[in-house]
Amino acid sequence: MSKMEKTKNGLFDSFARKTTYLRLSVTDRCDLRCTYCMSEKMQFLPRSNVLSFEEMYRLCLIFMKNGVRKIRITGGEPLVRKYIISFFQMLSPHLKNGDLDEMTLTTNGTLLGKYAKDLFEAGVRRVNVSLDTLDVDRYKQVTRIGDLEKVLNGIEAALDAGLKIKLNAVAMRGAFEDELDELMRFAHSKNMDLTLIEEMPLGIDGFDRKNTHLPLDELRKTIEEKYALSPIALSTGGPAKYVRVEETGGRLGFITPMSCDFCSSCNRVRIGCTGKLFTCMGLEGSVDLLEPLRNQVRDEDLENLIKETIMNKPKGHNFAILNDGVRGIKRNMSELGG
Ligand code: SAM
Ligand code: SF4
Repeated sequence: MSKMEKTKNGLFDSFARKTTYLRLSVTDRCDLRCTYCMSEKMQFLPRSNVLSFEEMYRLCLIFMKNGVRKIRITGGEPLVRKYIISFFQMLSPHLKNGDLDEMTLTTNGTLLGKYAKDLFEAGVRRVNVSLDTLDVDRYKQVTRIGDLEKVLNGIEAALDAGLKIKLNAVAMRGAFEDELDELMRFAHSKNMDLTLIEEMPLGIDGFDRKNTHLPLDELRKTIEEKYALSPIALSTGGPAKYVRVEETGGRLGFITPMSCDFCSSCNRVRIGCTGKLFTCMGLEGSVDLLEPLRNQVRDEDLENLIKETIMNKPKGHNFAILNDGVRGIKRNMSELGG
């Protein structure tokens, strides 16, 4: 069992929700430029603004000490960060000694061919891979620069390495509705869950979400014209609501962030790659942890700052895609840590 001395109280907010899940962005950089996430010409941050592995690890220790049981590494694209495997290896002992239940990542899959085995060896067992289409041309259109074959090879490598995969797809109006069939059959034939995510109005000025936003209740009705969907009691502790697709035997999840229906049980916070602590992705505002980290603030003071910030976590977000406009958030998903 862990030798880490745990605090009794944990990280609670004023609505009595406990934070047990940390999503940590290790970079704002990415080898793709998905239209809903980034603009084509991105100005990435200078490396000196980004947390070092040592700084990230110090924060992880504080979070684990205070009851965080799951850490998800994300980005930008986490696997483009140099020596990223060494960061997974730093956290690895905490899986073995019981501090953590799970260490995982969300990736676009392009580098899984290179890293799948190393990830498994470091203790990763499940990976979320973002993939919106199986059509080569549309993949290029959505990601602007992506090569679908690399991702498909990455998925195979990950499955071979023993990683369990969940596919995440952002629901978009248009071709996506026609291609969903193929994507779902592909996922289920490889024993992967497929989760559909509603597009959120984060970042990217000038990208009109009204043209692409596809409410999932509408998409679900279309799916039900073809497939029998049975509700299942599966709770992943996350925002997805799952159904079983009787024809394929696989699971299909729906994440509807716009409806705020999981805010009341939200157990997560995010740290961006520059050390900003975000208690809610649907609201502006964050608390900076980089400066105190670099000013040699004591762990105890850092811990108090984190506790105070989480105590002030809002009840829910307030973004929306409305007929008369979008109420969105200026920062994009890659800055926040998806
Ligand atoms: N690069 C990795 C990837 O694509 O999986 C990790 C970071 S990415 C920001 C995390 C997730 O956020 C991806 O599944 C992506 O599809 C999703 N995402 C990005 N922008 C989004 C938006 N505006 N609305 C909904 N999901 C979004
Ligand atoms: Fe990169 Fe992921 Fe954003 Fe696509 S969704 S641009 S892969 S960070």
